[in-house]
Amino acid sequence: MPHRLPVLVPTPAHSALGSLLHYESELPLAPGTLVRVPLGQREVLGVVWQDADDTGAPPEGTAIRPLSAVLDGLLPLGDSWRHLVEFAARYYQRGPGEVALAALPPALRDLDAQQLARRLKRHAKAKLDASATPPATPAQVLTAEQAAALAAFESAPEPALLFGVTGSGKTEVYLQAVQNLLAREPQAQALVMVPEINLTPQLEARFRARFAHHGPQAVVALHSGMTNPQRLQSWLSAHLGEARIVLGTRMAVFASLPALRLIVVDEEHDPSYKQQEGARYSARDLAIYRARRESTTDAPCRVMLGSATPSLESWHHSRPAEDGGRYRRLTLTQRIGHAGSLAGALPTLRLVNMEHQPRHTVLSSPLLAAITERIARGEQAMVFLNRRGYAPVLHCGSCGWKSDCAHCSAYRVFHKIDRTLRCHHCGFTERVPRACPACGNPDIAPIGRGTEQIAEQLASLLADVRRPDGSEVRIARIDADTTRLKGALESQLAQVHAGDVDVLVGTQMIAKGHDFRRITLVAAVNPDTALFSSDFRAPERLFSLLLQAAGRAGRDAAYLAQQGSVSEMWLQTHHKDHPLYAALRQHDFPAFAAQQLAERAQASLPPFSFQALVRAEARSQDAAQAFLSAASAAAAGLPGAGHVTLYPAVPMTIQRVANVERAQMLLESPSRQALQQFLAAWQPVLRGTRQQPEGKGVIRWAVDVDPLAI
Ligand code: ADP
Ligand code: ZN
Ligand code: ZN
Repeated sequence: MPHRLPVLVPTPAHSALGSLLHYESELPLAPGTLVRVPLGQREVLGVVWQDADDTGAPPEGTAIRPLSAVLDGLLPLGDSWRHLVEFAARYYQRGPGEVALAALPPALRDLDAQQLARRLKRHAKAKLDASATPPATPAQVLTAEQAAALAAFESAPEPALLFGVTGSGKTEVYLQAVQNLLAREPQAQALVMVPEINLTPQLEARFRARFAHHGPQAVVALHSGMTNPQRLQSWLSAHLGEARIVLGTRMAVFASLPALRLIVVDEEHDPSYKQQEGARYSARDLAIYRARRESTTDAPCRVMLGSATPSLESWHHSRPAEDGGRYRRLTLTQRIGHAGSLAGALPTLRLVNMEHQPRHTVLSSPLLAAITERIARGEQAMVFLNRRGYAPVLHCGSCGWKSDCAHCSAYRVFHKIDRTLRCHHCGFTERVPRACPACGNPDIAPIGRGTEQIAEQLASLLADVRRPDGSEVRIARIDADTTRLKGALESQLAQVHAGDVDVLVGTQMIAKGHDFRRITLVAAVNPDTALFSSDFRAPERLFSLLLQAAGRAGRDAAYLAQQGSVSEMWLQTHHKDHPLYAALRQHDFPAFAAQQLAERAQASLPPFSFQALVRAEARSQDAAQAFLSAASAAAAGLPGAGHVTLYPAVPMTIQRVANVERAQMLLESPSRQALQQFLAAWQPVLRGTRQQPEGKGVIRWAVDVDPLAI
């Protein structure tokens, strides 16, 4: 008598079919077993989700088809992994099949049972071959602050937020938390998440060196820059319990880790922890959930978030327990090696008042003088502008033409290097016209500036400056345009590290994470734009980015001392008295956070309320909005609706991309639970509305829970 198995399969998003289907099997397979099953005309990977369901009549309608194959040889995925997937799917309003299958390495989807068996054999063999274990690099002796933070972390079960300026030794605390764990429990596993692993190869090297004695599979990486076979290899090591440490980006939060005891989320404020398509999960928030879910009384799973500029959510959660805080806040105040010096030797802030500079100044004379001085001393400077290309728009002064994109409600950016106009939203690219396409005026001019222009101007303004050895100044630019080719970023960074660059120009790509040893001056040439953004999170992001960028200067105390130099952060601004810059000058994140949180509390914004966005895309703006409005009208009376505010549908900031019109609707509630309850009940309404006349013309729609950008 065959068994009836509930199997999770990857059905399309919002399909009425659901993703839990029944299949017939000779054996009552354990939940978590990977199987291959027919789905329509295809054969797909599925996960047995529950015990065989053999009682009662088969579910109506569909004939139950047999499984195609069982991927035996692989241990079933654990209960807690399945719970995590179910939670993520429910919370972020997606199908569990989609979430589960996206969480598995892509290579698994294509392997049949024999291929998988062969792969496992090879995996086991590779493990045996690599048996020589080099000695580990020794741990640093912790400073008193580090030791206190680590001890506090280990003494209490709640999630911890490690708040420490860049270079204050947070990574060393993570390393020793893992080390202590493995000393207590040699079979335990740790998950260490970072925002973008390829930006920080040094971190991976540090973990590998520290845990070398645990064998070559002890530390595995998991991120999207890896090939499918590499990812499968890492995933298997984690799933089979061989890997002690998984070092990965947001996707790693779904790694199968049967003995998970510790999760570290480094740079926890980083927006890249939020997935921006499919299930729009926050890996940081899932890490908190996962740690709690994996904990048992004898085997707790701990979680530590770390940042120099925590997200205001995490900061708020780490307020004193008496005030309702649920996380423990641990603080590192000093930069390592700078103990005793002023403000832990963070760079001094220099504001250039652009109101006093000639109009249209891009690089002010005081800043140029400061950069020149650094170059003359053989030090490096970094100039940072969050916009690539030469200029964000070309403009005709006589008729007012601007370089619009034909397919988007956005301007095409002028790239001087290949004389193109490129849309950064849809990719539409054309040669720069010789004259205004509207009126024929040959004098069309760039407005505004991008990294390309900054690099060009620096080259001409510093043409007469000489380095200590009498040679010319070397300027390099790093942004998404210069790093398109594989390996390009690594080699460009290596040049900076090797001292082959005097001035590094770039976007936020260079502001984060890098451990530059000889950069002593960092400049943000146009940070003001974010001050007046309509997005309530813009100040938070700006503060964090500027502080991160500042953290690139003067990292090496010994180098500064040897140079007799001090590190500086320069800002060119039209708003020198803005409170954000005042807080930045003091390196005072707590003051900045307190001020921002007070504003948010007053306006009932997160973390004092909970939000979701529904976005719709259609051929016309009317169609996109009609769909949202109809779904909104049909929402009255649903569970939770009494505590949820639905705002009117509005066009998105960039309303049209690649000829598709986009609209969104904001939902807000003082209660996370009410919002969740409402969203769950509203899903079928949204699906139904799509089938109504109001849903005609809608290409796709999606819910974003806890959206980062509104
Ligand atoms: P963060 O992660 O906060 O930026 P790191 O852990 O990378 O800081 O530490 C900054 C630098 O200080 C690194 O070069 C690190 O090796 C060194 N360091 C960290 N802790 C110690 C310590 N206790 N003793 C000596 N050096 C340390
Ligand atoms: Zn014109
Ligand atoms: Zn476009």
